[in-house]
Amino acid sequence: MTGVGLVRKKTVRDLDLAGKRVLVRVDFNVPVDEEGRITDDARIRAALPTIQYILRTGGKVILVSHFGRPEGKPVPEYRLDRVAERLAELLEQPVRKLDDCVGPEVERAVQQMKPGEVILLENVRFHPEEEENDPEFARALASLADVYVNDAFGTAHRAHASTAGVARYLPSAAGFLLEKELEEMSRALEAPARPLVAILGGKKVSDKIGVIENLLGKVDALLIGGGMAFTFLRARGLEIGRSILDREHLDFARRMLAEAQQRGVKLVLPVDVVVAERPAEDAVPRVVPVEEIPPDLMGLDIGPRTCRLFEEEIARARTVIWNGPPGVFELKPFAEGTRRVALALANSRARTIVGGGDTAAAVEALGVLDRMTHVSTGGGASLKLLEGKELPAVEALADREPSLA
Ligand code: AMP
Repeated sequence: MTGVGLVRKKTVRDLDLAGKRVLVRVDFNVPVDEEGRITDDARIRAALPTIQYILRTGGKVILVSHFGRPEGKPVPEYRLDRVAERLAELLEQPVRKLDDCVGPEVERAVQQMKPGEVILLENVRFHPEEEENDPEFARALASLADVYVNDAFGTAHRAHASTAGVARYLPSAAGFLLEKELEEMSRALEAPARPLVAILGGKKVSDKIGVIENLLGKVDALLIGGGMAFTFLRARGLEIGRSILDREHLDFARRMLAEAQQRGVKLVLPVDVVVAERPAEDAVPRVVPVEEIPPDLMGLDIGPRTCRLFEEEIARARTVIWNGPPGVFELKPFAEGTRRVALALANSRARTIVGGGDTAAAVEALGVLDRMTHVSTGGGASLKLLEGKELPAVEALADREPSLA
């Protein structure tokens, strides 16, 4: 990959893997239906490049993942057997699934492994010590292997035993997926082609305070849509009817408006919105200017004039970061703003970085996922990076070169 060298952590390429047992933390927390069938295997596919690389270089692959919220005890529906089956199909080779992730039987099984073999350990969250980041548990996991590779971006913002703790006891490195996630985000935030435009949406201001603060110091333009835009409109003195208002953060919004002006950052708020009585599939939507939101209605999407404003900014941009839908995109009457933003990104020549969670789901549902430069696989982790924070599981990995400090 054509990295810009911003990621200072060792990667799987820096490790000597031949004949080694390699413990790989992956994120196989896949969505399933009521019968436990996997409905989307994207997370399994995302880990394949790292797994296949280790196999090609003569390593033995020991995979460890969480799945669901079993809360520290074995729960049959959260066993990883189906994941192992799907992985075996994708790799076109056997995957041995074990019934635990630590203990004598697991130790015996990994001792007997040959280069090119794959073992999937049982759901690591069957043990409460995982989320407690218990050092003894981390040591037990580490004792299974010679080296540790983390490729689980989706859980990198959590310091758990299998994501952070284990790195203390083994030579460690980032896998290809983790590396790509970090490269894309650090390139966009630290060395972007400009103009750099960020689009923020979603429900609440409170979830994105750190993101707004950090981005204001980096972007050329910040476009705000979604539920959070109404707190900013209210901060500007407008009546917003029954639209979602984050009263506690009105002052914050005022401060951010002032700061944007001071820094010369273009802060674009909606000029028109789609309003309705309630967020429902059969609601009767109406477009109004933001100065004329009726007291009994709520704003649930950005209007067509705002879409055009956003499209113009996106067309000018050379880097775009998008996190959070500008409307209630799950409901047809309020999905147009999200569709227009997604298409504008798809048609732009800018590097387009899309945050995980809802935004990634919207981009996928609209069939334009492949037209983005990068769609993150982690919602919480990508928000942390947008806040300018380090991820504990990444911090725990070995640095590429010894620090000169
Ligand atoms: P978040 O998890 O904060 O990114 O929020 C995503 C959610 O925000 C989606 O489920 C959208 O339906 C919701 N959302 C977007 N715009 C609005 C709005 N104007 N009012 C209420 N919810 C919204």
